[in-house]
Amino acid sequence: MRAILQARKLFKRYGTGEAAVDALRGVDLAVAPGEFVAIMGPSGSGKSTLLHLLGGLDAASGGESLLGEVGLSNLPDADLTRLRRRSIGVVFQFFNLLPTMTAAENVGLPLALDGIAPGEVSARAAGALAWVGLSGRADHTPDRLSGGEQQRVALARALVFEPKVILADEPTGNLDRAAGEQVLGLLRRACDERGQTVVMVTHDDAAAAHADRVVFLLDGQIADELAGPDLSPEAVARARSRLQA
Ligand code: ADP
Repeated sequence: MRAILQARKLFKRYGTGEAAVDALRGVDLAVAPGEFVAIMGPSGSGKSTLLHLLGGLDAASGGESLLGEVGLSNLPDADLTRLRRRSIGVVFQFFNLLPTMTAAENVGLPLALDGIAPGEVSARAAGALAWVGLSGRADHTPDRLSGGEQQRVALARALVFEPKVILADEPTGNLDRAAGEQVLGLLRRACDERGQTVVMVTHDDAAAAHADRVVFLLDGQIADELAGPDLSPEAVARARSRLQA
């Protein structure tokens, strides 16, 4: 397998001396193109840290994150910013939309920041909004959208550059079950129909069961993995409770 995303012996220490916390302690992970991986584990086990390091949002203390063949730690800042914007879409639990911008403006923002001409920005933003089923909400500001709609706008923004990789940190954590299922269905389709690769942190067994593989973190290390056709919420719950017992 040629991985699109890799963690190689990733270490992350926050703070120094007595206050130091080792959030990641030698994580190796390889994600295949088109794969949907869920990351689970107790609070504080290092899930968000791993996602951030995979996306180059934070620097490792040791080891390396790679996007394809490119190591993220040695890139000059400007190159990393451009690579992240074009190749890695990110979705957060609390949507992180800009409140004064319309849905279409929020979605088009990464393109505008990249210097793409306004006409093309509008056309591509409209295409991304249509893909998440929100063409009818293009002119709404976030305060006029439901939580589920806001998250779909955030997903459209993450997808607008057609990135190879989508990283999602608890994308359904702030949504009711129906809205969460819609977002999970779109993430699944991003893999199946668009060939994109998704890595998603979640606490939710049913959400994790949408993935091809679930990776369990414990104390900053990978403690278990679950994959295969019978990846049901029940199987995820059993693996999780075995681990935390
Ligand atoms: P999870 O996402 O599994 O809840 P995190 O990756 O957020 O875990 O955190 C892993 C550990 O690192 C925790 O002990 C947390 O308190 C610590 N940590 C996370 N971010 C920071 C930070 N910016 N400064 C200091 N410690 C941090």
